[in-house]
Amino acid sequence: MNTEVFAARHIGITERDLPKMFGTIGVETLEQLIYETIPNDIKLKQPLNLPKGVSEHEFLNHLQELSNKNKVFKTFIGLGYHESLTPSVIKRNILENPGWYTAYTPYQAEIAQGRLEALLNFQTMVSDLTGMELANASLLDESTAAAEAMTMLFDVRSRQQKKDGAVKFFVSEEILPQTLSLLKTRSIPLGIELIVGNHETFDFSEDCYGAILQYPGKHGQIHDYAGFVQKAKEKDIKVAVAADILSLVLLTPPGEWGVDVVVGTTQRFGIPLGYGGPHAAFFATKEEYKRSIPGRIIGVTKDTDGNRALRMALQTREQHIKRDKATSNICTAQVLLAVMAGMYAVYHGPEGLKYIAGKVHSQTKRLAQGLEDLGIKQRNTAFFDTIQLQVPNVASLRKLMEEKSINLNYIDDTHVSISLNEATSEQDLERVLECFASSQKTKDNAALPSGAKEVLPASLRRKSSFLEHDVFNSYHSETELMRYIKKLERKDLALNHSMISLGSCTMKLNAASEMLPLSWANWGNIHPFVPLDQAKGYQEMITSLEHQLNEITGFAATSLQPNSGAQGEYAGLMVIRAYHESRGEGHRNICIIPASAHGTNPASAVMAGMQVVVTKTDERGNIDVIDLEEKVKLHSENLAALMVTYPSTHGVFESSIIKITQLIHEHGGQVYMDGANMNAQVGLTNPATIGADVCHLNLHKTFAIPHGGGGPGVGPICVAEQLKPFLPGNPVVETGGKQAITAISAAPWGSALACLISYGYIKMLGAEGLTNATKVAILNANYIKGRLKGKFEVLYTGERGRAAHEMIIDCRPFKEQGIEVTDIAKRLMDYGFHAPTVSFPVAGTMMIEPTESESLVELDKFCDAMISIRSEIDEATADEPNNVLKNAPHTLDMVTSDSWEYPYSRQKAAFPLPYVSENKFWPSIRRTDEAFGDRNLICTCAPIEAYAEV
Ligand SMILES: *Cc1c(COP(=O)(O)O)cnc(C)c1O
Repeated sequence: MNTEVFAARHIGITERDLPKMFGTIGVETLEQLIYETIPNDIKLKQPLNLPKGVSEHEFLNHLQELSNKNKVFKTFIGLGYHESLTPSVIKRNILENPGWYTAYTPYQAEIAQGRLEALLNFQTMVSDLTGMELANASLLDESTAAAEAMTMLFDVRSRQQKKDGAVKFFVSEEILPQTLSLLKTRSIPLGIELIVGNHETFDFSEDCYGAILQYPGKHGQIHDYAGFVQKAKEKDIKVAVAADILSLVLLTPPGEWGVDVVVGTTQRFGIPLGYGGPHAAFFATKEEYKRSIPGRIIGVTKDTDGNRALRMALQTREQHIKRDKATSNICTAQVLLAVMAGMYAVYHGPEGLKYIAGKVHSQTKRLAQGLEDLGIKQRNTAFFDTIQLQVPNVASLRKLMEEKSINLNYIDDTHVSISLNEATSEQDLERVLECFASSQKTKDNAALPSGAKEVLPASLRRKSSFLEHDVFNSYHSETELMRYIKKLERKDLALNHSMISLGSCTMKLNAASEMLPLSWANWGNIHPFVPLDQAKGYQEMITSLEHQLNEITGFAATSLQPNSGAQGEYAGLMVIRAYHESRGEGHRNICIIPASAHGTNPASAVMAGMQVVVTKTDERGNIDVIDLEEKVKLHSENLAALMVTYPSTHGVFESSIIKITQLIHEHGGQVYMDGANMNAQVGLTNPATIGADVCHLNLHKTFAIPHGGGGPGVGPICVAEQLKPFLPGNPVVETGGKQAITAISAAPWGSALACLISYGYIKMLGAEGLTNATKVAILNANYIKGRLKGKFEVLYTGERGRAAHEMIIDCRPFKEQGIEVTDIAKRLMDYGFHAPTVSFPVAGTMMIEPTESESLVELDKFCDAMISIRSEIDEATADEPNNVLKNAPHTLDMVTSDSWEYPYSRQKAAFPLPYVSENKFWPSIRRTDEAFGDRNLICTCAPIEAYAEV
């Protein structure tokens, strides 16, 4: 074996396995299988024009060299991003630990209690620090969280309350520039009118439905908003505040003024800057809005045995259920980063956080004093970590600073701001002072005073306590935290235990070599707004990745800005919208979406101001072309786009795709391809070939970014030539097309740090490896299909009877025996497997996607488990619910209990097949009571006693 070929490590199947697999499938060669799977007219004629793959060793050397082109300055730019210190115990045991980063979104609560607890900690931390009643388990970044607040309040107003048509939203001029840009993007399609201004002179007689304030302001000034909030309340104007989480340790939390929403980022709680992301944003609000909150909320409930259990609460699947009635399209969020930020609070506890915030604040005061002593005017009257200075000549100061490898925020020709952070040392402050002294050309020696005057009035100083729960006061030694993290990790089934065959989610290998560079300082410690010449390594990587993705999709250009697939959908549709407008066809607003589409598709279309028209699928699972034709003709005048997933969410390469995309173009529409299923296309066909104009890619599916328990994600959009001018921009750093739409994410290149993973994936596999990965993904799916034949019926196949890279098995017939698809999902846990995707896109079914990374041994274990479950189903009867499926999963508690009242053995319950006992995974709870939890909503680490009272 050539040990330098990465593909041999990434792909789980070897030459030796092929005869057996071909036999099961009924083909002679892999080429034959691919021929029978992908319609001939869309097959690529040429191999991918990408270089040969490099070895892992070469890749790591290459990334080392590239990282040396990034210059790590001491950066005091602030503007929502701050250098932070990731505690090593968190870095090693979470960020670098596949037990955490390869887990899936915790839909299967019984095997996800660890990350659910970590997220409950995060929610508790956010709600305590902001002073709000509840918080969600993360959003994509501060600016999108602010936009979610704007839209949620808009929706609440128009839906629940007066239908008075108020469409104005006040935005304080203190808001971060990237947030303002995003608010613009999101407001336009919804008809929300932004009024940007000074909150002190705001005219409350304006007919506003809501307002947003920044706390502290973008250049550090802290305003006391209590009066504003009071007046707003009287006028029934809802108020959101974008707040700095660390400052809330010392400042009066906005919740105490009675605001409606508080948003922000938790980046400075131990998450690397990473040139813009990924970081977890938070969204905290009042109990009364609990049914309108975007994203996921973790809630407490009880399991079948009455034990405390956590699970995703309430509207968790909201956009799937509400579709075009949803107000947010958020799906993938930032779970891994939220877990880390929550753990940062667990490790430091309230006293540690007070120390950190106190140190940052006191250093800032002393720096301000030192600068004032030099005769420099400091403009902020009340501040936490940021001061604003008036200087005669910014250019010369900047030169001095850059010579000393220091970045400040240069506001204009005569003003700069400086934001300090946890990593700021005394020497850093001295260097800053010296530069100012030289620029002033004063004779005085710059000196840092040992103390400084108070700058926070009593009304702004926090008096309330926070993080009093046990979890934030127990794990302050490394040994204790290490064990706590391990305790949680052990409750969670991740890819380091067994295959996670979640259809549509592509849970493939996230190779260690792809992940390692994320820990390197030269990638981690770069602020998104540094001058480009300090980020040359990043720029080179970004340009290469864009090229790679252009080649793979067949398109002309790529924007890496969107932080998730759903955000990519929104970005793509906004680009289509801008394109139509540029041609004087701004009236085009109809978006046709097949009934089988993922819930984010219609939700994104509505957010982009489009009207959704649903088109039918026929009995074979394909788009009903006749129905589509009718709808296209009916809406020809106003047709904006078709959104289509390819291969379809039914796991099939539809052969009429070219005809479909042509039809849309004939009627003036653009074709948006949802690229979640790109793992079935890479190297064999591409979106440009099927006639699409734009697609998003889920780099966290096809391109090896780990799922992280529900994020991070990266959802770049790739576009054809005509859409290139409209790719999204950023207000601080120039990026995007010539007629760029305003920002889709806060950072110019989204989650740049995570992009390293996909860059490595493509670079190491190379053209041939990528194509083989696709072929083996299709092979593995068809092998499972072959092995399950006669036991589980596959709902849809292509014209020649093949599945694509995934398949839907029908579990509805088992209802006759009283068995639901959920019972099968839960029973799989007893066999050591995570369930495939349940009831999407068809209720009562499972969608299985093995990916190319799984070995034949693992595929066989899974098939053995499914076949064994099938015989258990045959034993079940509808009138006897006390059976091994209905009672699944079986916990250690049940199996070791002195009493055993089940009509089957303990052995059958917990060790149903021989392979299980070698590597038993114990679900830590039994099934959860959803209704109970939703009725008695608890979303923070309330003391156990409080819970018992319910
Ligand atoms: C995963 C998925 C999405 C949403 O992507 P996120 O990254 O979770 O926002 C959209 N469509 C399909 C078909 C998907 O599988």
